[in-house]
Amino acid sequence: MPPPQPTPKKAVPAPDYKTLKSQWDAAKRKKDAEDATKKAVTAVEPNNTDEIKLRELRRAALEGRRKKAYQSRWAWTAGFWVWMLAIHLVGLGYFTSGFLLTRLQLDDKSLCDVSPAGQEGGILPAWPGKGTPEGGCWHPKTFDKAVVVLIDALRYDFTVPVDDNAEFHNRFPFMYETAVREPNKAFLRPFIADPPTSTLQRLKGLTTGTLPTFIDVGSSFSGTAVEEDNLLGQLRGAGKRVVHLGDDTWESLFPGYFEGNLSRPYDSFNVWDLHTVDEGVIEHIFPLMEEGRKGEWDVVIGHLLGVDHAGHRYGPEHPEMGRKLRQMDGFVRDLAGKIDERTVLIVMGDHGMDSKGDHGGESDDEVQAALWMYSPKGGFGRTKPEFAVPPATAVERPVNQIDLVPTLALMMGIPIPFNNLGRPIEEVFAGPRGNSWNNLAAAERVAAAGVKRYQASYFAARGMTEEPASTPGSPADLWDKAEGLVSKGNWVAVYSAFAEYQRETLARCKSLWAQFNIKNMILGIAVMGFGVLTLLVYVSKGAEDDEAVDDPELDDAEKSLEIMGVIPDSELPLENVLERKLVAAAFLGAVPGLIGGALHAYLKGTGDYYRGAAMAALTSIATVGVSLYEIKETLRTLVPSTIWGWMAAVFTLSQSIGFASNSYTIWEDSILLFFITTFGFVTALSALRIQSLADRYMAIYHSVLFVVLGRLASASKLCREEQMPYCTSTYYASSTSSTSALWQLAIPFAVSLILPTIIKAYLQPTRSYEGLAPAWIGYVFRTGLFMSALYWVLDSADNGNWISGLPEKKLKNLSVYTAQMVLGLAFVAGTTAFMWAPPCVSIVTSASKSTPTRAQVAILGYGNAHGARYLLLPLNFLVSLILLSKPMGGGALAILFWQILSLVEILDSNSLSATPIGPVMLAILGSFHFFKTGHQAVLSTIQWDSAFIPLFSVRYPWSPLAVAMNTFAAQILATVCVPLLVLWKASPKKKGALAETSKKLGAFVSFFAVEGWMSMMWAGHLRRHLMLYRVFMPRFATAGVVLIVVDLVALGVSLLGLRGNTVAIGEVFGWAE
Ligand SMILES: [Zn+2]
Repeated sequence: MPPPQPTPKKAVPAPDYKTLKSQWDAAKRKKDAEDATKKAVTAVEPNNTDEIKLRELRRAALEGRRKKAYQSRWAWTAGFWVWMLAIHLVGLGYFTSGFLLTRLQLDDKSLCDVSPAGQEGGILPAWPGKGTPEGGCWHPKTFDKAVVVLIDALRYDFTVPVDDNAEFHNRFPFMYETAVREPNKAFLRPFIADPPTSTLQRLKGLTTGTLPTFIDVGSSFSGTAVEEDNLLGQLRGAGKRVVHLGDDTWESLFPGYFEGNLSRPYDSFNVWDLHTVDEGVIEHIFPLMEEGRKGEWDVVIGHLLGVDHAGHRYGPEHPEMGRKLRQMDGFVRDLAGKIDERTVLIVMGDHGMDSKGDHGGESDDEVQAALWMYSPKGGFGRTKPEFAVPPATAVERPVNQIDLVPTLALMMGIPIPFNNLGRPIEEVFAGPRGNSWNNLAAAERVAAAGVKRYQASYFAARGMTEEPASTPGSPADLWDKAEGLVSKGNWVAVYSAFAEYQRETLARCKSLWAQFNIKNMILGIAVMGFGVLTLLVYVSKGAEDDEAVDDPELDDAEKSLEIMGVIPDSELPLENVLERKLVAAAFLGAVPGLIGGALHAYLKGTGDYYRGAAMAALTSIATVGVSLYEIKETLRTLVPSTIWGWMAAVFTLSQSIGFASNSYTIWEDSILLFFITTFGFVTALSALRIQSLADRYMAIYHSVLFVVLGRLASASKLCREEQMPYCTSTYYASSTSSTSALWQLAIPFAVSLILPTIIKAYLQPTRSYEGLAPAWIGYVFRTGLFMSALYWVLDSADNGNWISGLPEKKLKNLSVYTAQMVLGLAFVAGTTAFMWAPPCVSIVTSASKSTPTRAQVAILGYGNAHGARYLLLPLNFLVSLILLSKPMGGGALAILFWQILSLVEILDSNSLSATPIGPVMLAILGSFHFFKTGHQAVLSTIQWDSAFIPLFSVRYPWSPLAVAMNTFAAQILATVCVPLLVLWKASPKKKGALAETSKKLGAFVSFFAVEGWMSMMWAGHLRRHLMLYRVFMPRFATAGVVLIVVDLVALGVSLLGLRGNTVAIGEVFGWAE
């Protein structure tokens, strides 16, 4: 709502440039003329119209020159930040390349007639068809056909009786019941995944039998074909026809493997859709089970996604999850009824889900899936009577997921894939009475021989030598002992000896592939470290010259002399611009490093051309460092000289050094809140020195408000597993949910009511709620906020089926269009408005009271002309980030923005703008609210469903962009607000805003760069730590991605926005820069 105008003197509001500009010019001319008569001077005053015209021309020419000079200075500054981004990318990339697990992929394939255990003298007597798929390549075949049902995210506890009323317990009892009732026909066991627990990685493990490599996580979104020897390739090689139904990840992993006319792939990423994939699988699988059609296939794979999607969308504790599990129970029950004696039915999960229904990491809930096998033939056994009942929890008698690979291969009579490291599952080979020890020993031995053969090939390919058998406990030693037992005929001992060999080899492979390339890691750390140092020197540069420049009166005098042609243009020659020197140095420096690195790779034949990039980064940092030194910068300037400088340094360093400790990393959000509180207290104390009583009270008020808001935001929590039980999640309806509670839907409405009014209150003291501001903030911004509040109501109505009888997807359609409108409003309309908006000022001309013939010119909002106008840009981001952040996160972001406004007021009233504390506090606010928007530095807190807020299905690049904006909303908003630190309460006379903003960005980015660099060092140093993949590695990954996001936003939004703003102010008031 536009406020009643505070002043009756006000002229008609000026809505556009032309009117504003002409009003300003006219007023100025009038004033100039009056001043001239009043002073009645002198040599430089115009005495005829020609002189005035000439002056106007000179003025225009000067403005043009200044504008051009500004634009090229801007381009050089942007160039400096592009260089910084490149340094960060090279540093992070190079370190990561040394850190990731690497496993050489071998192309060898197992052959049916070449058993790794040798052809002669096996444990079992020769069976009919030995060495052929018909009889069984390496072991007697037991099944002709298989139906494999993969229920995505089927956690083990979903399938066993648990004494509670949770929605996810006791809804899927069929598998447990059959295993107890008919142990010979069925068994159920925990099925443990190797992290990362993403479906793509799991499918690779479940088909090749080998361990994941970390680098593959990144390809989770795209999916790449499996090149290694795998079950499906072996099945196809044996002439089996494989049908695939469900999750289309299979099609991208195994292109062309499936019977085209029978297979039905479905899009796997539409997490909001619980039913399409499942109904598709169920609809198409039953016809294939009819007697008449069993001849059309040998293996059917059905991959259902409903349970996984219910977890992602609602969390396990939701009625939809209960319904989904009941549906799965009925489905498996029906399917089992259709299975004949030649066929084995396997039902399994590929991973579990955490308490909110997400996965990706390596917590217990994420790795514990379930495995059930069923055959009406009744050939399964237990080696001990106490194994008859399925384990009550997943920690008892777990099966590794890779064990499915040798098991299924031997059952189906095909060779075990070459790279397999798993072992046969006991129940399948133990015989109905559980005493077929020779069968077990034979299966275990052939699998172990495969592992041994693989290891030998791997060592040969890598040029490594095996540990000799003389070392006790080495795989070679264990192998010799096991082989020695074969001739004695004690099959129980043979079985456990080969199992021991397999376990040891698997453990060795795990540690072998977890080896790190220390050279790459050190090079990455060096690039990042020198990059941080350069940035800090660049930042510390500013302080003294900014003061020298910023004298509006001197500038005015200078400018008028220039216009009169008395002195030539005082503009700096371009060659003296600091950023230009640095960019030139960076390019010159990069060349020798690039050539040297590439040449080294070529001559040594290592093929490591990436090292060229790392060398180029280092040499270019060196030349930039030298040119900074030439401008008389020494490292001494880095030592803080004020309490504020020290505070900034301590906050940054203690935050980063803390990453060495896992408890610090786990409780990071509480520590950031402590920093915020400390800053509030220190500024409140410092405010006591302010002379003016009113100013002093306002300064204290803002400091207190800053702390109170921080405390208020800390009510929003999403706990990580390690914080339990000392933390209660409040971000969602409950700790086992991923939907919002009903009361939380009120938060976005409250935000749309209150936030625009708060922003207005910050603009009014400087009379800056003028121009476009009332319309934009009062109406457009508020409408956007209201619509995003509406979006979350529609979303909840859809999730909770509030309105029965609506056509399907009606609410989803409505909510997606609402979201798209909000984003359109923010980015399309908002950016256009920001580009074209005149300054938020109004020019008022009125008669002077004392001398009525003379005009008085007043400009409302003049003192904050830069800040008020720039504010429109963060507002555009704020509204879209609030939409993408769920109700609780939207509330946190509104508080963040309020805190930022208080921060700039605190900095202004305590005269702290020259210190680095402003940007550092802004960075701390961004980091703090990352946690308050429902995130933690772990993979599973990524809110993937935010991709579907403005979209129906996955679309590039929009889906990843939406997820990134949800994840890094707080840091993005903070970055967009960095120029406010310089522009807030800056009049159009402000000089050097570009250089100053670039320095502020430097201090801001330094916070994140130090964080990235330190977490990198700690992750490297603690690479053998137990908590590496749970704590340190995710923290490093988060810091790395945040740094790149901050760099990109600083360059693409903050600097670009500053340029647009300066041009707009300059067009009206003339160029001050
Ligand atoms: Zn999932």
